[in-house]
Amino acid sequence: MSSAKKDRKKERVRLYKKVRNTSSWKSIILYLLMMLLFVASVVFLAGFVIEYIFESKFAEGYSEIEQTAKLYESGSEEKNMLDYIKKQGRDFIVTDKSGEVLYQQGNITLSHNSGDINIANNSETYTVYQDTETPLLYPNGKGGLDFKLNDLLEWYDFDAETVKIPIWVSVDISGGRQVIGKAFITINKKDKILIIELLTVLAGIIVLFCFIMFAKIIKSAINFRRVVKLFYSDPVTQGHNWMWYVRYGDDRLQSSFNKKYNFAVVNLVFRNYRNYCLCHSMSEGEVLLSRIDRLVSSQLKKPEMCAHATTSNFALLLKFDDEQSLRARLQSLIDTLSQMDRDHNFDFQIGVDIIGAVTTDNGRAVKRKGVSIETAYNNACAARATLGETEESGICIFDNDLLEQQRWRDIVHEHQQTALNNEEFVVYYQPKYDPRTNRLRGAEALVRWDSPEFGFVTPGRIIPIFEKNGFITEIDHYMIKHVAQDQKAWLDAGYECVPVSVNVSRAHFIENDLADQIRDLVDAADCPHELIEIELTESAFFDDKKAMIETIKKLKDYGFRVSMDDFGAGYSSLNSLKDMPLDVLKLDADFFRGDNAGERGEIVVSEAIKLAKSLDMLTVAEGVEEKPQVDFLAEQGCDMIQGYYFAKPMPKSEYTERMSRTAHTEQPALPEQTVQK
Ligand code: C2E
Ligand code: CA
Ligand code: CA
Repeated sequence: MSSAKKDRKKERVRLYKKVRNTSSWKSIILYLLMMLLFVASVVFLAGFVIEYIFESKFAEGYSEIEQTAKLYESGSEEKNMLDYIKKQGRDFIVTDKSGEVLYQQGNITLSHNSGDINIANNSETYTVYQDTETPLLYPNGKGGLDFKLNDLLEWYDFDAETVKIPIWVSVDISGGRQVIGKAFITINKKDKILIIELLTVLAGIIVLFCFIMFAKIIKSAINFRRVVKLFYSDPVTQGHNWMWYVRYGDDRLQSSFNKKYNFAVVNLVFRNYRNYCLCHSMSEGEVLLSRIDRLVSSQLKKPEMCAHATTSNFALLLKFDDEQSLRARLQSLIDTLSQMDRDHNFDFQIGVDIIGAVTTDNGRAVKRKGVSIETAYNNACAARATLGETEESGICIFDNDLLEQQRWRDIVHEHQQTALNNEEFVVYYQPKYDPRTNRLRGAEALVRWDSPEFGFVTPGRIIPIFEKNGFITEIDHYMIKHVAQDQKAWLDAGYECVPVSVNVSRAHFIENDLADQIRDLVDAADCPHELIEIELTESAFFDDKKAMIETIKKLKDYGFRVSMDDFGAGYSSLNSLKDMPLDVLKLDADFFRGDNAGERGEIVVSEAIKLAKSLDMLTVAEGVEEKPQVDFLAEQGCDMIQGYYFAKPMPKSEYTERMSRTAHTEQPALPEQTVQK
């Protein structure tokens, strides 16, 4: 991938992120965190309070054992004292320094695992033991008492008035002895209510807070979806937009789920959009665009796509089995769309780039990698552009030749002005000869591009491009100017000059001061007007007939000759011959090639010559390469032949040589076509 392409992709990813960030996505995470933090702190607080209650209760229990220890210590030797303690009914043992039991009373259920604890608000350390029968409370090793909620719930008798949780505590007495007694953490009704109320309130707060947070999260999620939807929807069609197409198009092309499909990336153009807006209104045009979007979208299957790309352009992604069925589907789409309005018939053009399924040698489809829907769409647009700017429907599928053509078109476009400024365009002359006398009677000026970078370029590779991009008018001016300058130079040098015809493109004829422009150019070179002939192509006569006749008349008034080029090629405009006051009829080279050559062809040519003669026009046969053709044309009274038989288009120097030779022959010059200085 080129660095520019990478940058573009990065930029786009950044944009998507921005959308995500400007939406409430971040706040959703924030709310979730807040919720977790809140719940954790409430649970911690509840734990702390319950622990505090337990520990303060433990302190009460402890003091009772301490009391017992004191009693034992004060009168352990006396029987009365022991009896007194016995009466109190406590379970305890007395151990000596080495841990040997000296005395024991009651049901001893203490575990052997002891731990030291510091209970809340007390800096003293107590050694405690779990009770093996109810292992509910145990020292947590961090200086506090702990309990497991599960154990608590299982063991705790919620119905009982008072719950007694046993725990063994040791109290040091004299002589290294210890009294280890069973103390009870007594939770009475009041404590229970307090704990339950506390837990209920805390649970309520948690539920309320979570509820608020959930509501906010849901709202944020809805907002997020809304922002994303807005970002990917088209304001004109209300359907999807270009960002959506690019964002999800690549995913669909590259997903392993779609690897088995052949895909067509399609550029669909509504040709009549501008005109429709002109005749109606922009908003009516937009309504039409949204109808197109809906109509196309309704015909899509999974995972196909349709998005509004630019003004009258739609970007589609279609799957297909074979090219034939794809073409049929696209044609039916065009047919449906072109008839969507009862009062109008619309034109749609379609360009396609194909991204086929990638298969291994054993025919297994593999995931497509590195395909870009943007590049493919660009190719589809290039294919569509070859259909031209006409108002006609059509389908064109992209191939590499097309890419080459596109590149060449861009190169020409980029270099045309510099080439013109540097005079890289050169005039070639193709002589026209009289087939009866073999004398030079005229020539046609044909352009070539002698490029230092691209070599010698023939007109076939540049003229169609100039015609499309409008630069043809510059070329035509350039040619007229140079031919006029050459003619003037030849006249001054004493050559016998013959009229040289210059091609004037159809695109040029829309300018209504064309005749004046030509006259000014020729006058600037001080060249006699009769030495310049203007060639118009037959197709040009279809545009604006009235304006055309005006221009031809003007040109003739100024003394220029006007000829109809390529007569008989493609269009038939016998009718225009009637209306146009033309001087020369140029029979197209097609008459002398392939199927047209032969008896029937000869009849047509002979009749065309007769027709021209009766309209007082001269005839020129183009593209004549064979001697029998020359003989036939001479016989039929054709005035001139322009073809390889006599000469190919040649550089000025070579043409000058031919002129000088002609000028020195003894044959009489034809006064109406040659001018002697
Ligand atoms: P065109 O006006 O019909 O020019 C005649 C073309 O036929 C020339 O091609 C010429 O080389 C070719 N030709 C002449 N005799 C024969 C023959 O016996 N056999 C064959 N096979 N070809 C022959 P070229 O020079 O390649 O020009 C092609 C076209 O480009 C011209 O067709 C003309 O339409 C256009 N063109 C050339 N120069 C200009 C220009 O300065 N302005 C405009 N507007 N168009 C130009
Ligand atoms: Ca021509
Ligand atoms: Ca021609």
